[in-house]
Amino acid sequence: MRSAIVTDFLRPLELCERPTPHPGPGEVLVRVEASGLCHTDIHAAHGDWPVKPSLPFTPGHEGVGIVEEVGAGVVTPHVGDRVAVPWLGWACGACEWCISGWETLCPHQRNTGYSRDGSYADLMLASAKYVVRVPDGIDPLDAAPLTCAGVTTYKAVKVAGVRPTDIVAVFGVGGLGHLAVQYARIAGGVVVAIDVRDEKLEMASQLGATYTVNALREDPVAFLRDLGGADSAIVTAASPGPFRQAFDSLRRGGRLVMVGLPAENTIEVPIFQTVLQGITVTGSIVGTRLDLTEVFELHARGLTKVVRVTRRLDDVNEAMRAVEAGEIDARVVFDMRDVEAAGVRDGVTAGTVS
Ligand SMILES: [Zn+2]
Ligand SMILES: [Zn+2]
Repeated sequence: MRSAIVTDFLRPLELCERPTPHPGPGEVLVRVEASGLCHTDIHAAHGDWPVKPSLPFTPGHEGVGIVEEVGAGVVTPHVGDRVAVPWLGWACGACEWCISGWETLCPHQRNTGYSRDGSYADLMLASAKYVVRVPDGIDPLDAAPLTCAGVTTYKAVKVAGVRPTDIVAVFGVGGLGHLAVQYARIAGGVVVAIDVRDEKLEMASQLGATYTVNALREDPVAFLRDLGGADSAIVTAASPGPFRQAFDSLRRGGRLVMVGLPAENTIEVPIFQTVLQGITVTGSIVGTRLDLTEVFELHARGLTKVVRVTRRLDDVNEAMRAVEAGEIDARVVFDMRDVEAAGVRDGVTAGTVS
């Protein structure tokens, strides 16, 4: 099988042939149809974070494909089912976080495309209990970004506790933010989208944002304060500045939900305002299997749109460069299918709104 692997944090990914793995007990072998490119994959490939993946490894945690083989003891899924293989590749199922509905915080978890090989490959192994069924009728090219970008922002909206009368500020409208706008809208909030590129703000308006602010031209803090302040602010940005702006734009009792993971790791939070105004500052990391199931349900009902561009895996290094350069409005998805068998597409579909 073909696979894109990281052999060195300073070198581009290499495309190479590797032996087809076979599922062990509790595992399934998935033939990957689509794999999204999440910014985390770039951090993984560069070894940016304190806990680095061990080399060599295959990135990718937005894998969607068909179960081709099941290992001993697997009850579901079945051969032929379409499944998503998310970042939470496995959790212990027994710790206090797992049994209280917070499996995403399991200290023993294994992460797809990081501590186990991911979806930048024709075939991948996954833990049967931690894959999520993709309902019939959802395009695998849509399902891929929903598997991380979708579930992560859906969970952030839950963590923000958005109510129908809330003003929700979404800082950063990219692969994550364009979905955050939609989930906040579905929850009933009035959405204010903030970014520095007009094309992304235009997209946010089309997806349900009531207000947009280009932070290069207008101060988002002043704008939100004029509206009475944000009840919650969800920050998907890749630099720390917007996190501080989001804090400053909250109204009393407001909630700052951190989702993006900038390489520069800190902001200053003023204690006095946090205490007297009862501000909540919280982080939110991906989502559970149930959250992802709900994300797929919303998409199957036609309530969300995934904005994406399609690439072939051969172009993985160029795609990563384009994402890092901010040239991609939303999500890159690698179409892993045999082009002729799929009977479709030419490899590059610019700005597909499906
Ligand atoms: Zn991700
Ligand atoms: Zn656990």
